Amino acid sequence: MFLPKRVIFEESALEYEKGRKLLELFQNEKIEIKYSSSGRITGIPGKSSQDMYGEGKNTLVIGVRKTLKFESCKPSAHYQLPLVSGCMGMCEYCYLNTQMGKRPYTKIHVNIEEILEKAKEYIIERTPQTTIFEGAATSDPIPIEPYSGALKSAIEFFGNEENGLFRFVTKFTEVDSLLDLEHNGRTTIRFSINTNKIISSYEHRTPTFEQRLHAAIKTSKSGYPLGFIIAPVFLYENWESEYLSLLEAIRNNIGTNVMFEVISHRFTKRAKENILSVFPKTSLPMEEELRKFKFGQFGYGKYIYKDEELNYYKNFFKEHISNLFGAESINYII
Ligand code: SF4
Repeated sequence: MFLPKRVIFEESALEYEKGRKLLELFQNEKIEIKYSSSGRITGIPGKSSQDMYGEGKNTLVIGVRKTLKFESCKPSAHYQLPLVSGCMGMCEYCYLNTQMGKRPYTKIHVNIEEILEKAKEYIIERTPQTTIFEGAATSDPIPIEPYSGALKSAIEFFGNEENGLFRFVTKFTEVDSLLDLEHNGRTTIRFSINTNKIISSYEHRTPTFEQRLHAAIKTSKSGYPLGFIIAPVFLYENWESEYLSLLEAIRNNIGTNVMFEVISHRFTKRAKENILSVFPKTSLPMEEELRKFKFGQFGYGKYIYKDEELNYYKNFFKEHISNLFGAESINYII
């Protein structure tokens, strides 16, 4: 669970009961509280890139989601569901590092009902087709769920929506408040996992693989459709045996009714610069000359593993996931 060092309230959030309740809670906890009347978030200290990053990661903002136009979320879903943004985790390669500014705070939107009403409009627009919403496109929503209750509201909402489905992904484990909800199988929970070598080297402030597996076992017992994202996969010495033991642990503890998405490590020039400014001593493998450059859709390219390694890696996961879970368990391997 996220224990912020400071909480900044947008004044408009106090017009909502959830905002007022959170203010009372953090006042009782004696956590530093600040206010923003303009909606601009200032007052997060830090001079160097590292300090700004650290202070941002320790800041929680309680605000109101003003624009209710949802971003698209292709290819895995139709729309992002903007319940929360940001994440307390400090993963060196996080995809959010290039998106959340120099002080990457976490934000809860208190107007959850309005957000879900808007989701309903999007669902109606596409009826009779099913509309899928992603709850973790710009966040990991689990560590702040005890404050936001956003996932609970969304899961219950989609539990009653014939033409809507919900999904989110997490590296965290506080799922207990979700276990008894009436999800009706309409929310898929995916756990992002990695080997403990990678978690301890790069995924700072996140739980171990065993802790994530334990949370996954609980959600599976509660009947939620379950998936695992193995990402990013690094091809280091002995990676085969370590990634294989993750697959075997899932098979032995959960069974075969799971889906997999597997993503090899890649980086852009911009992400590399960003990572080096916050983690100057990083040991992330980001030597351009050892990779293949692949042009991207939006004019910038990324460095992926070279063809031979990439093919070997794809075959490895295809073979072992198929053997242990059946080929239909593979969503994609890239
Ligand atoms: Fe980013 Fe996910 Fe790590 Fe959070 S847990 S810092 S969202 S990669």
